[in-house]
Order: sequence, then structure tokens, then C-alpha cells
Amino acid sequence: MIDRACISINNRCNLNCSYCHFHTAEKAVYLAGKEMNVFSILDNIMQHINKYDIEVFKLGFVGNGEPLLDYEALHEYIKYISDYLSANRIAAYTITNGTLITEKMLDFFKENKVNVGFSIDGIPEIHNQLRCNTHSEVMKAIELYHSVNGYYPSMNCTIGRDVLKKAEDTIAFFEPFGSRITFSRMIGAGGISLDQFHCFLDKAKQRLNVRTGGYDSVINVVKKIKMGLSFVLHVVQT
Ligand code: SF4
Repeated sequence: MIDRACISINNRCNLNCSYCHFHTAEKAVYLAGKEMNVFSILDNIMQHINKYDIEVFKLGFVGNGEPLLDYEALHEYIKYISDYLSANRIAAYTITNGTLITEKMLDFFKENKVNVGFSIDGIPEIHNQLRCNTHSEVMKAIELYHSVNGYYPSMNCTIGRDVLKKAEDTIAFFEPFGSRITFSRMIGAGGISLDQFHCFLDKAKQRLNVRTGGYDSVINVVKKIKMGLSFVLHVVQT
């Protein structure tokens, strides 16, 4: 039974991270013009929840770019499913690069029980090199999240060769937050083997609340699912 899905609400980003698999010239051509009606998808998901009496459906508003570049649309999608969110029938989340978020957005997400995760690759030395010198901006956003919610957000960190060289520092960086950390394996240039990744995870798990059981972030399992209308979802496992 499908009980989770991830909707890519846009295909654009304000950053150009060195390892990004979404914004290569090749992908840009592939992704261009792939408009879809997110409200139809949400209708289908709500029907699906009712039909199969699903207790909690996990729904991500993430995907091929920075979702907050389309905050107005995201705001409407969240309002559209707000009854399901307040009844805890849908557990929604989004993941941001942290450069665009405001207190108003955070208040809205809190009010609607939408979890917000932040992408941050550990210590400034590594993060800035891979993610466009944004470490201090992202940290400000994480502190803003803390002031709104009273706890630190979940965070996502991509593990490549550079991070492995600073594995101890990376683990120590995340330790004080006490929040759940999702590590993803980098592949391609600068990437690491599965064995190296699992070895890092084993170390990290001794000191951090590490999310386990997920796929590599770059492996989006795309399925075409028929629930009344056909639509494309990125099915994610958490
Ligand atoms: S923030 Fe995410 S989507 Fe944007 S360039 Fe970086 S890795 Fe790619």
C-alpha cells in the first residue's frame, strides 16, 4: 500500500551546488515544461487516504529544486490539505537550502504542522565549498527555526570524499543540535562507495540521531501511479 509520496513542486533553484544532479544542462532540457497540476495530485492522495483508510500518509513537497522559490504555490497546496494536516492524516514536510526562509513562512509551517528540513553539509569549510558559500546564511535560518519552534530542525547532509576527510568534525558539528540528521551518499565526481558511506553512518549513529532506512537522495524511484488520474510521484522511503 502506498503511504508516502514526494511531489517536486518546481524545477528551479537559486543555488548551484557543485554536486547537484538536478541542474545539469541535460536535466534542464528534460525537466523543462513538465508542468503538472499539483491540486489534482493532492485530490488523488486525499481520495487514496480515504479509500484505503490510511492512518498517516507521509507527503514531501521537495524535489528538483528549492521549494521556497515557489512559496506562494506551496502555501496554497498546504492550505488545500490543511484539514488532513490538522487531523494528522497527512504528515507533510519540505526540505530547503535555507537561504529564502522567513519567520512568516516558519510560522505558517508550524501552524500547519509541516516539518521543515534544512540541507547543510556540516562544517563551514566543507559546506561553503560545495554549497555556494551559504553556511552562515543557513545557520541563521536554522537559528530562526529554533526561535520559532523551540527546537532545532531536522537536517540533511551529503557525504562525499571531502566530508569523509573531516568525518569527526562533521559529526561533532551536528551533535549540539540534538535533531534528526539524514545523511545521503554522494555519487559521481567527489562521491564515495557504499562501504565508505555505511562506515561513516556507523560512526555517526554512535553520537547522532541518524535517519536510517532511506534511499540515497539521488536515487528517486519514480513511479507512475494511477489513482483516478495518472501522475508522477517520486516515491520515497523513510
Ligand atoms: S540547493 Fe539542492 S537543488 Fe539547489 S543546487 Fe543545491 S543541491 Fe541542487
